[in-house]
Amino acid sequence: MKKTKTSLKGRKCKFPLCKHILSIYNHETFCHVHLGQVGQEYKQKVPA
Ligand SMILES: [Zn+2]
Repeated sequence: MKKTKTSLKGRKCKFPLCKHILSIYNHETFCHVHLGQVGQEYKQKVPA
């Protein structure tokens, strides 16, 4: 069996109700849309 550097096929975005299928080249748990949103929220919770 060959080892690939790509992620599993057909992974879905972990964001609630999001049905986006993540690209095999996207190793994040969120789609590009929610990755930005989650990142922003996270920043707001962290004191500057
Ligand atoms: Zn998403």
